[in-house]
Amino acid sequence: MNEFEAIARFFKPLSREGAGIRTGIGDDGAVLQAPRDRELVIATDTIVSGIHFPADFPPGAVGHRALAVNLSDLVAMGADPAWYTLALALPQIRTSWLAAFARGLDGLARKAHIHLVGGDTVRSPVLTATITVVGTVPKGQALLRSGARPGDRIFVSGILGLATQGLALWQDGQRHSHRLRPFLHPEPRLPWIPILRSVARAAIDVSDGFAQDLGHLLEASQVGATVDLDRIPRDRRDPDSLKRALFGGDDYELCFTVPSARLSVFRARARRARLTFFEVGRVIPGKGICWQKSDGSPSPEIKGSGFDHFAKPEMRR
Ligand SMILES: [Mg+2]
Repeated sequence: MNEFEAIARFFKPLSREGAGIRTGIGDDGAVLQAPRDRELVIATDTIVSGIHFPADFPPGAVGHRALAVNLSDLVAMGADPAWYTLALALPQIRTSWLAAFARGLDGLARKAHIHLVGGDTVRSPVLTATITVVGTVPKGQALLRSGARPGDRIFVSGILGLATQGLALWQDGQRHSHRLRPFLHPEPRLPWIPILRSVARAAIDVSDGFAQDLGHLLEASQVGATVDLDRIPRDRRDPDSLKRALFGGDDYELCFTVPSARLSVFRARARRARLTFFEVGRVIPGKGICWQKSDGSPSPEIKGSGFDHFAKPEMRR
């Protein structure tokens, strides 16, 4: 099967009619109509076999992940998903692989109401998938990393460290444990989009580990934070859970700040939508993260040591 046949067979069906699509797949470029009174938010992410996912990952999980990591960025921006493009580089074109990849991709695309409008497939020694997503927000309402202010509370949208735990199980040869799921099948937190947009002041998705990603948000906002280690949501059965929660990547949960004046509205809306959230700290003037314990004592593990004690788990082997 050549490139054109592959595109026609597996990817053309993913390009359905969608809002604002005047011309999708099949021309030199897509022609899209941006909704009136909205701005576009664009994000792109590449995943590479052996670096961002193990080389023996199931193709459906690769397709899902390629889109999930991008959608997670749109969620963190408070943007509604609209369109995406896919560039796929493959060592060889195998029909069964492509069919499963396209199914994994499309399953999530349907859920997110995002439409494929273009793409490219090429041969390459290493399997890589690059997706560019386009979302829309009402003018001026995109949620940035730079909006946090002292006094804001810091929240995360779910348990941290489960993806790294799943990766460790995968590398250990496990293929059927339900604890693989957060790693195999990360779920971008789509239901948070309207709530974040209405109540949060700053947001980021947790892709590189909570400590690092919160650090990016604080730096962009030019503020510091206190974080209560006892309130970090993690799997306490796992002896490495704190390390994984703080420094493991690929969770695709959200970290966001809410001003105290909006806390009750925030809690009511999140509960009505049946979303879980955990308050983990507070924004303060200054710089950096001050890790604390619930009893107010400074954290012995992390204080003064930076993050170098914990290397990011490697999957390159
Ligand atoms: Mg991100």
